[in-house]
Amino acid sequence: MAYEVAFIPGDGIGPEVAWAARRCLEATGVKVLWRDCLAGESAIAKFGTPLPEETLQTVRQTQVALKGPITTPIGTGFRSVNVALRKQLDLFACIRPCRSSEGIRSPFQQVDLIVVRENTEDLYAGIDFAAGSPESAQLIQQLKTLTTQPLADDAALSLKPISVAASERIVRFAFEYALTHGRKKVTAVHKANIMKYTDGLFMETARRVAKAYEGRVAFEDRLVDATCMQLILRPQEFDVLVLPNLYGDIVSDVCAGLIGGLGVAPGANIGERAAVFEAVHGSAPRYQGLNKVNPTAMILSGVMMLEHLGERDAARRLEEAVRAVIREGRAVTYDLKADRHDPTAVGTKEMADAIIAKLKTQSVEPVNPVKPVQTGQRAQRA
Ligand code: NAD
Repeated sequence: MAYEVAFIPGDGIGPEVAWAARRCLEATGVKVLWRDCLAGESAIAKFGTPLPEETLQTVRQTQVALKGPITTPIGTGFRSVNVALRKQLDLFACIRPCRSSEGIRSPFQQVDLIVVRENTEDLYAGIDFAAGSPESAQLIQQLKTLTTQPLADDAALSLKPISVAASERIVRFAFEYALTHGRKKVTAVHKANIMKYTDGLFMETARRVAKAYEGRVAFEDRLVDATCMQLILRPQEFDVLVLPNLYGDIVSDVCAGLIGGLGVAPGANIGERAAVFEAVHGSAPRYQGLNKVNPTAMILSGVMMLEHLGERDAARRLEEAVRAVIREGRAVTYDLKADRHDPTAVGTKEMADAIIAKLKTQSVEPVNPVKPVQTGQRAQRA
């Protein structure tokens, strides 16, 4: 018996961190039948497109994918493979847990929060018009008949669709996540004082959904600017944050900074029919092939994948092995050393080796299988 999982190594540092994660996952003893797929630059070379139908089909079949970061190609028809993948598979919820690890130098301690980002609409939806294009000229003319607000003829335009259905779905997801993970509070983040209709709709929807969870999960809503400041002053006040797409993108990088940087921030994109697990960071092309970057974010994304599959015991063992290696501070990459030029820093592969060695020697209490930890479907067993 094995879980079928699509494996997309990605671009830049992607293959290095994705393979490190794959080896660590295999070392847990959970049987995975990997279905190797291409997306990004390597896919363009073979299929002439960065997101081949073959890859989408594989993820639809397996319902679970482990994915390395993908470079956003410049000057092609695709805005972003990542955005396209999320849209095609309707991966509407992006979950980014941010938890402090002992051994990581940071002015912020005991951070333990979850960012839940809406993944399908907002300014990220891709409704963009270039300055000077016939489309923006037409749109600007039309808009001038609808608003008295000044609108420059040479403006570029981006639309910000925020719908009731998508807002309701993501807020409900955040509350359900809070319930299944023993979380106490959901904070909806917006800028409804300025964007009265779009963010206003998100805020009103969040308040309405929250009523159904009264007495079980606390709720508050906050402005995004104030939230950023509070995250720096008192990150411990937050538990689960739910945000529209763009604020979610930015705030999750802020939160990654609170726990030690992009090298340690994992993530998952979840839908009703598929889930794709990937680090928050990108393909960092200047580090490509150097065996230098931190594999932790990708390995912890693998931990989230194990939880999603219901393999909670293996998930806990792997997470503990990662945290033990970081705590000891020896076999860690340059970004986790006090001095980034510390010659004792190890490479991506060697840090993964240390985690695998730790897995084999650790003693961790088993956990009882309880309720599923994600709302998405689990992988088919092959
Ligand atoms: P990036 O996250 O790739 O890198 C920014 C910096 O963060 C790096 O220069 C490095 O200093 C640090 N960093 C990132 N990952 C690290 C790791 N594992 N260990 C240690 N340090 C790490 O961001 P970018 O340079 O803005 O983006 C590069 C490319 O990645 C772009 O094409 C972008 O579109 C793409 N991207 C893809 C994804 C994704 O696939 N999900 C996410 C973000 C960015």
